[in-house]
Amino acid sequence: MMEPIETNLLSQRRPDELGEGLVEKASRYLGKADLAKLKNAYNFSQTAHEGQFRKTGDPYISHPVAVSKILADWHLDSPALAAALLHDVVEDTAVTKLDIEELFGVVVADLVDGVSKLDKIKFDSQEDEQAENFRKMLLAMSKDVRVILIKLADRLHNMRTLQVMQPSKRARIAKETMDIYAPIANRLGLNDLYRELQELSLTHLYPNRFKVLTKALKRARGNRKELIQKILDSIQEALSRQGIKATVSGREKTIYSIYKKMTEKTLSFAEVFDIYGFRVVVGDVATCYQALGTLHQLYKPIPGKFKDYIAIPKDNGYQSLHSTLVGPIGTPIEIQIRSDEMHRIAESGVASHWLYKDQESSLSELQTKTHEWMQSLLEMQSESGDSAEFLEHLKVDLFPDEVYVFTPKGKIISLPRGATTIDFAYAVHTDIGNKCVAAKVNHELAPLNTELRSGDRVEIITSTSAKPNLGWLRFVVTSRARAQIRHHTKTLQDHEAAKLGERLLGQAISDLKAQPDRITESRWVQFLRSYAGKEKKDILSEIGIGKQLAIVVARSLLDIDTDSDSHEMGQRTSLVIHGSEGMALQFAQCCHPIPGDPIRGYMRKGHGLVIHTHDCPISKRSRNDPNKWIDVEWSPDSKKLFTVFIRVLTQNGKGVLARIASQISEAEANIETVNFEPSDTTQYAEINFSILVADRIHLAKVMRKVRGLSEVLRITRLKK
Ligand code: MN
Repeated sequence: MMEPIETNLLSQRRPDELGEGLVEKASRYLGKADLAKLKNAYNFSQTAHEGQFRKTGDPYISHPVAVSKILADWHLDSPALAAALLHDVVEDTAVTKLDIEELFGVVVADLVDGVSKLDKIKFDSQEDEQAENFRKMLLAMSKDVRVILIKLADRLHNMRTLQVMQPSKRARIAKETMDIYAPIANRLGLNDLYRELQELSLTHLYPNRFKVLTKALKRARGNRKELIQKILDSIQEALSRQGIKATVSGREKTIYSIYKKMTEKTLSFAEVFDIYGFRVVVGDVATCYQALGTLHQLYKPIPGKFKDYIAIPKDNGYQSLHSTLVGPIGTPIEIQIRSDEMHRIAESGVASHWLYKDQESSLSELQTKTHEWMQSLLEMQSESGDSAEFLEHLKVDLFPDEVYVFTPKGKIISLPRGATTIDFAYAVHTDIGNKCVAAKVNHELAPLNTELRSGDRVEIITSTSAKPNLGWLRFVVTSRARAQIRHHTKTLQDHEAAKLGERLLGQAISDLKAQPDRITESRWVQFLRSYAGKEKKDILSEIGIGKQLAIVVARSLLDIDTDSDSHEMGQRTSLVIHGSEGMALQFAQCCHPIPGDPIRGYMRKGHGLVIHTHDCPISKRSRNDPNKWIDVEWSPDSKKLFTVFIRVLTQNGKGVLARIASQISEAEANIETVNFEPSDTTQYAEINFSILVADRIHLAKVMRKVRGLSEVLRITRLKK
């Protein structure tokens, strides 16, 4: 746990005084019952942390109290304040989440648990893109916006007291604050917090530059005083002449913003500082535009510098009109014009709900203008009109459509909600996806279709021989994974189709009593002229999947007139098949041929060659189309195993299935599936098996073995 040592006066105070300070602050807006709960939480946390001290001798409780006080400044509700008091109790003491739930309720317990979870994930990357993902991960994990507010207050207090830490540790924490927490504060519209975190980070990251800039700022301020007052007066006067009621103020640039502009745009201090900033806050939206018109008449606007963030709010809900004008002695003046309501949102963002609770009704106007997340929060509020219900609804994801997960090397990958390990694999690298065989989620093996959650650590196990599976398409959600799986299986299919096509073409050429070497490469070039854009392999794969007839292509290549019968047809030769041709060759699902069965091949357009047995009804029905049916024969050395279906009629009895199964395995065949056909009597049972065999001889051996059992009455091979 990162806790800086405090050196301030807290060490002189007794713990119970600390609690009183917090209660006093909260009593400005909380009721009696809430204050009592807060006192309980304080007493509990104080006892739990009893005996824990910071290095200076401060009681540990001073830190949670300070965090809770920051939240009280934002007028957060009592569960949030209580959770802030208890935020380190589970991590650092013997207290469990269950204890907190029993004593303070499930809401407080969930908040404490949420903060502890955030504390556990660490960020250590230098890349900007990774910082953005880490920020989103934190937000996605904070299902309740109060969790992130507690975390931000925790960080603010740690930053305020950072000076006593070791310099190296100081720099790391300041950098993390700059990269992660300040932008989150900005994202949530917590502007004051955003500025303070940036300023504090800068002090610790670049102490010398900060000192120089502070000095320069002090000096410059003195010189500008008069001019600023002059401009203020003329703005105020111009507005009241038009009957516009407005609060006008000069805006001070923060040291951080000056520093950033100097480094980003390589400007000198004077160049950055010589821009004067003013803010005009008026009653409503219409008056904003009216005030803008008035100021554009007072000072000339610089073209291209006007921005309407009222019509198009920033992502974090910020609204204002921005314009740059040419001031009295030619100095640029930046003005911001906004309504009271916009001003509140601009200063305290998401926390403004708590801060300005009594003005709930007027907040409805904001709904239509602010960014989606803000909108959904406010919408729910105006629907229910009930503060408790509103808080209930705050348990929403700030990034509902995304999850953020870690690679084994700690890189963060962002994926859409519902993404699985396969989506992750393809997001990391195409090859990882294509070679994926298994996945580990948080160090444990998990099914490939496991849905990932934010914060998961995912590891993909690959194998060089693995291929993408079309079945993955059922659960992948990213278009990248989808496209890659499709592309890869298509390439594979094309490749296998071309290989089969080549063999079919070879067969057709010998049918025409020609030598395959008669067809030279230059002959191919000539042939391809009539197929604009196609290559030899395209033609071969078209033959392989039955889009073109091998005999037609062969005749054309051999320059034999297709219509003429003058060329003598030779003895038809058979295509030898191994069963391992791949996707371009299929075994018919109607007759399930196995080696030894007489077979024929049917060119099914667009699908390739389908192998049927001779006695299959489909094969009998249309056998007289020689262009579609191809003579095929089994290769004598096929290594593949083929699925075959058998049905066993047996007397019913204990253990009969086990005995049949053991006979099958004794014949060295594998059982793929087993199922019982419902039978009318309980005396007999019909059991269907699908088994894997090498060929007919192997099948015969299986059947002989099974028939050898005395209770088996009949065994048949099934051909549907
Ligand atoms: Mn803490």
